Amino acid sequence: MMILIPSCKKEGLGDNPTLQELEETIRKSEDHNAKFTYSQYEELLSELKKDKYLVLTMNEMSYTFNDKKVIVGMRHDVDHNPFKALEMARLEKNAGFKTTYYFLATAPYYGKIMGNQVERYSCMEEVYKEIFALHHEIGIHNDLLTIMIKYQIDPFSFNFDEIEFYRSLNIRIKGSSAHGSYIAHRTVPNYEIFSDFAKVRFIEYNSKIYEIGIHSLTEFGFNYEAYFVKYNKYYSESGGSWGFTGGFYQFLNELKKSKPGDRIQLLTHPDWWGKK
Ligand SMILES: [Zn+2]
Repeated sequence: MMILIPSCKKEGLGDNPTLQELEETIRKSEDHNAKFTYSQYEELLSELKKDKYLVLTMNEMSYTFNDKKVIVGMRHDVDHNPFKALEMARLEKNAGFKTTYYFLATAPYYGKIMGNQVERYSCMEEVYKEIFALHHEIGIHNDLLTIMIKYQIDPFSFNFDEIEFYRSLNIRIKGSSAHGSYIAHRTVPNYEIFSDFAKVRFIEYNSKIYEIGIHSLTEFGFNYEAYFVKYNKYYSESGGSWGFTGGFYQFLNELKKSKPGDRIQLLTHPDWWGKK
């Protein structure tokens, strides 16, 4: 007797999706999460165009001090939706700003981690190159604890492969921002992989011990880590909330109250923007 096996339809993305396939998949699962509109983002950008502000990339902020201006370091952690990042990058370019976009190697948009290496989606190179061509800074959204613990890959050599990959696109990486990953929430913040910031030498996860703080930020190839760029005010819509009862407009009012000499780190996640 012949047994008929129905052919299975392949679920999800193949190993090397086109940019269009990747964008369709990501937008289908992510776009509905948006909480703020691009016209609200443009309201924010037009406030920042006022003379009192000096809007900078995070790398520029790390070495720029000016008491006559409100310094604003614009940081974007790209957790889920690089296509929203591209849209924001274009809005900022039109407003005349340069900001920083941190991409996450453990995110579904980035590629697949198999064996002990990451298979990057080559179509994403267009996104990184376009954002960089708009004169923004590209950085690494550091999830090295997940790389070390979940994927059992040496975080130091993994990070150098990352920097080398971006270098192959003529993009020079200058800094990192720590991702609040599942594993980080259960151990220590991702920036504690660096000896500069590690408060302990060993962490435990699922009864296994891992050594952290072996190499410094500089040894990892970075000039700065975003959380440690000096600031006196920090605003973010982390988790989709500005942390004010009045939401976005209360944040905007707080921003308007800033005075020359203030140093503001402004973290926005493209995932939350572009609400229809
Ligand atoms: Zn993140």
